Amino acid sequence: MRIYLDHNATTPVDPVAAEAMMRSLQHLFGNASSVHYYGQQAKAALDNARSALAALVGAEPAEVIFTSGGTEADNFAIRGAAEALEPSGRKHLITSGIEHEAVLNTFKALAKRGWRTTVLPLDASGSVSADRLRDAMTEDTALVSIMHANNEIGTIQPITELATIAHAHGALFHTDAVQSVGKIPVNVRTLGVDLLAVSGHKFYGPKGIGALWVKRGVRLSPFLSGGKQERNRRAGTENVPGAIGMGIAASLAMQKMDAEAGRLSALRDRLEAALGQSSDQVTILGKDSERLPNTSCFAIAGKSSETLVMALDLAGYAISAGSACSSGKVRPSHVALAMGLGEGVARGALRVSLGAWNKAAEVDGFVAQLSKAAGLQRHNLPSMQPAA
Ligand code: PLP
Repeated sequence: MRIYLDHNATTPVDPVAAEAMMRSLQHLFGNASSVHYYGQQAKAALDNARSALAALVGAEPAEVIFTSGGTEADNFAIRGAAEALEPSGRKHLITSGIEHEAVLNTFKALAKRGWRTTVLPLDASGSVSADRLRDAMTEDTALVSIMHANNEIGTIQPITELATIAHAHGALFHTDAVQSVGKIPVNVRTLGVDLLAVSGHKFYGPKGIGALWVKRGVRLSPFLSGGKQERNRRAGTENVPGAIGMGIAASLAMQKMDAEAGRLSALRDRLEAALGQSSDQVTILGKDSERLPNTSCFAIAGKSSETLVMALDLAGYAISAGSACSSGKVRPSHVALAMGLGEGVARGALRVSLGAWNKAAEVDGFVAQLSKAAGLQRHNLPSMQPAA
């Protein structure tokens, strides 16, 4: 028996999306730039996918640029905006300490090339405070990049308020919405941002496809040189099967979002209530903040996340250490550190991220295995409601 509880890392492809992708691989092989029948068939499918994704984030289809994923979308937004604004003399960039490496390492790369960068700390609840952003803004700030929902703890940032501050100083605002799109309502106009990054594999679409939403009128320097695809903004033959899969996943996410968010937050609360019975041993990160419905991040006193992730894997449960980097090596969670939590919590942070096929019985089974592996006091656990 294997139970997957790591949906913020990636999700399985929805079977409806997978089937449409398979069909497109066989029958829609045209190059979307070709003028003949085959090309136009592919282009029509690409446009449908663009419309579906635009609808999911409240945007116009013409503002959506397909990319190879969230990492490329973040890079394109930050590097593209920074380079486009360089001649104006704006050489300052602001981000936060809880961003994904796709943003943090892009900032580091730009800092090496002479950009001044500010990385804002978080308050204890895991939020970027408006006052801190206001204090950090300068007359030459070109861009502020703050994520919508955090991948480790799931906390949701006050993007509308933060974007208003950036705009008051004439700066652009980018948000990495890779973890929020498909899970909670995301509307580019309500958020008031200029750039927003999306990744297909976080909401039951395929890997290797994502999108950058660029508000009409915002100028970005091209990230890749080559052909004139994507309205001359992103060169390279389009990944039509990937876009089809992501487009279908986007439509399904829109249909299911409300019900699924309610179901997942109930499961997450069930998990945390059970863990909370050992409250002297367990710290739940961001518990009092607005969070993604599917995400729970917690640390167990005196336990290393690496050991527990391995023990749970042996027992059949797939979860993440708070911050497993792409090499697979577990480091202290930079998110927990940015929140001002100690090294012990940062080293022990575990992330459970629930998804479409998880059931209450799986959550209960997980809590039982975790309690065993970590030596948690379980005296109160039987008070949980029977699994549905
Ligand atoms: N941003 C966040 C918040 C993420 O969680 C991830 C993936 O883990 C990415 C960006 C990168 O997305 P992709 O895997 O599509 O490159």
